[in-house]
Amino acid sequence: MSFDLVVRGGTVYDGTGAEGRVTDVGVKDGSVVAVGSLEPNGRELDAAGLAVAPGFIDIHSHSDYTLLLDPRAVSAIHQGVTTEVVGNCGFGCFPIRDPQQARRAIYGYSDDLPLTWSSAGEYFEHLEAARPAVNVLSLVPNGQLRLATLGLSDRPADEGELREMKLLLRESLAEGAWGYSTGLEYAQEQGAGEEELTALAREAPFYATHTRRRDEGAADAVAEALRTGADAAVRLQVSHLVPRNGVEESRRCIELVEAARERGQDVAFDMHTRTFGLTNLYAALPAWALAAEPTALAAILRNPAKRDEMRPHRSILSAGGDWSRVVLLDNEIWPEYGRQDLASIAADRGQEPLDAVFDLLLAGIDELHKLMVIIHAYSEEQQREAFAHRLCVPGSDATTLAPDGALAASFFHGAYTWASWFWRFMVRDERLLTPAEAVHRLTGQPAERIGVSDRGVLREGARADVAVFDPAAFAERGTVYEPNVLAAGMRHVLVNGVTTLRDGELTGERAGLVLRR
Ligand SMILES: [Zn+2]
Repeated sequence: MSFDLVVRGGTVYDGTGAEGRVTDVGVKDGSVVAVGSLEPNGRELDAAGLAVAPGFIDIHSHSDYTLLLDPRAVSAIHQGVTTEVVGNCGFGCFPIRDPQQARRAIYGYSDDLPLTWSSAGEYFEHLEAARPAVNVLSLVPNGQLRLATLGLSDRPADEGELREMKLLLRESLAEGAWGYSTGLEYAQEQGAGEEELTALAREAPFYATHTRRRDEGAADAVAEALRTGADAAVRLQVSHLVPRNGVEESRRCIELVEAARERGQDVAFDMHTRTFGLTNLYAALPAWALAAEPTALAAILRNPAKRDEMRPHRSILSAGGDWSRVVLLDNEIWPEYGRQDLASIAADRGQEPLDAVFDLLLAGIDELHKLMVIIHAYSEEQQREAFAHRLCVPGSDATTLAPDGALAASFFHGAYTWASWFWRFMVRDERLLTPAEAVHRLTGQPAERIGVSDRGVLREGARADVAVFDPAAFAERGTVYEPNVLAAGMRHVLVNGVTTLRDGELTGERAGLVLRR
């Protein structure tokens, strides 16, 4: 038998969870044609001493739009990622009726690339024309369904609007999308009622939901997702299940999923690997203040009575009242406070934390977006419990980036550090998963959730997406403050049989496909 390529002598983990064995993998015409001891015949990739796995599948990516800006997927390929599932959290690139509105539900939008398409099919064609280095498949984002029919209305859809949303959803699925997703915490979807969501989820084979609340009340929101999934009889994925308000609530969330599973419901969950969230400092303000123009907002921030009015507002920053969890990032407006937490900044200024926030914002009033914070929201204890759970798969929850090119100045924690973190933390440091189990979580398990049958496994007939890495060195190198650093330890990556990374270097090949259901 002749091969285009033989991956020689690595420890092969086939993605099913089976233990690794030292053997060869033969590739021809983009597929795996043999796994076993193979005669030299064709080109060779040396994998001695390395792990050989199916290419990793990122079940929770936000690269919908950024792959059009830079299709090389550099941060992903360097982590062995060969397939990204986009359209998550109700964000995505179709269907689009009003491009101005649609931008609200797209990560990384830039005026350099206007939204000139509307349907799923047209978007897929744009993506194909960009020739991404990774395979991409998409869910249908509810944020775009709502924006296309109700705009920003904060109410459930009426009968006519729901009919239209269903039509758009069906059309998108018929054009090759794999399921439906919601992001119920976001303004464009907050008005969506449970009935509406059930009616829409019923149209799809797979439903991924970023639930309505991820702080206090998170377990109730998971219960809503489970009801929706059961009533709609749909395969359900609870997106980034672990809530931001502590280990007790995350245990309640996990228990609810387990109980539903015992009742026979087809449900599982995923989680991102960062322990913090990134947002704007101005997220501390109530909506009525944020709606004000800069001059008016400055007047509000200066006015003691208005400050008192804003004090009781619960925001993603103030929730819990522990301001030591909120850290201001490096910035030009308050360079002396970069990387300091709000409790320390307030103490330094002899103020209440909220007054410090108001003062910081006042000084940056013309460039409020430059004041960014991270919120330490998740503990390692929560991470250990979630990722050790048999129903949990990791995802980036980020846009794939690159240290050079169009996305060099962007950052999205997780982009460079998710699969690599997962391996380093769960397999090497904590020893909570065996290599075979961890590979399964990154490959066969997400493939099965999505319903992809010819990827996520290394066996004859599967597509030749392959990651070859040093199991003792594979790790993230990006940090909280310097996130844009490529992961270490990934040696070779094949996408559809094409060598995309060789000896740790990109080959320049981009062989990803848009996968249509
Ligand atoms: Zn989300």
